[in-house]
Amino acid sequence: MNINIPDKISKFLVLIGILLLTYGIYRGDQNDQKYFEKIDLYNQWHDSVSINELKTDNYLNNLKSVSEDLAIKYNIKNPIYSTDSTTHFNRLLNGEKNAVLVSDSINKMWETYVQLKFKNKLYHKKADMLDKNLEAEKKFKQDSQGIFINIIVLGFCFLMLGLFLWFIDEHDTKTGVKQSDSIYKWCQSCGKSFSSIRINGLNKDGQANLAFCNCCYDNGEFTKPQLTKEDFLNEALIELKSKPWLVRKLLAVRLNNLDRWNPDKY
Ligand SMILES: [Zn+2]
Repeated sequence: MNINIPDKISKFLVLIGILLLTYGIYRGDQNDQKYFEKIDLYNQWHDSVSINELKTDNYLNNLKSVSEDLAIKYNIKNPIYSTDSTTHFNRLLNGEKNAVLVSDSINKMWETYVQLKFKNKLYHKKADMLDKNLEAEKKFKQDSQGIFINIIVLGFCFLMLGLFLWFIDEHDTKTGVKQSDSIYKWCQSCGKSFSSIRINGLNKDGQANLAFCNCCYDNGEFTKPQLTKEDFLNEALIELKSKPWLVRKLLAVRLNNLDRWNPDKY
């Protein structure tokens, strides 16, 4: 396929795709978690409201019972009475001594009961606020969920496009020899360093091939395709005959790692 896409663009797209996917999934998950935490808080609060109401009811029953007992004991009118579903306390400030005494002692319990009722009212208020808060949070969650899904879809598209371009790039056989973007210091066929004299060979389309020198490669093909790596090595060893053993050893290592002799490259 005659598409010349720089290798780095496809890899960049894959990277962006993975980052967007990871971000979208992570933030979406965080968003869910935050919402569920709010639901937990809301449920906990409603539970404590119910428990407090039970406590208040129980306290009121106890208060009624004490008041009734005292009324019988001192033969007076019960200062606690109920109309419909509401309970009232008839406080006596003066009058019969026993009735005032009972009224005083019941008054202390009654004040506690009034405080419990007020506390419950506050708890209900907070529950209502949490209710509204949860509604707003639900809407926010739905809105942001849409954004995160878009990010995930975008990331997936980038990933697929990047992989597709990468695939094309890897299989681009336009010049007969894979053109890599790597910057080579020496020819990937003979191992000799590039210089102003030893310049790059040319591809079929006239562009410089970055991997091979002009002695080894011209017009999109190797000038001496029949030569093996060993031929190149022997020739180089003859040239470097006077050099130390280590230099010759390094040359052999270099030749072994050249692209032309690496079966994975071609
Ligand atoms: Zn060469």
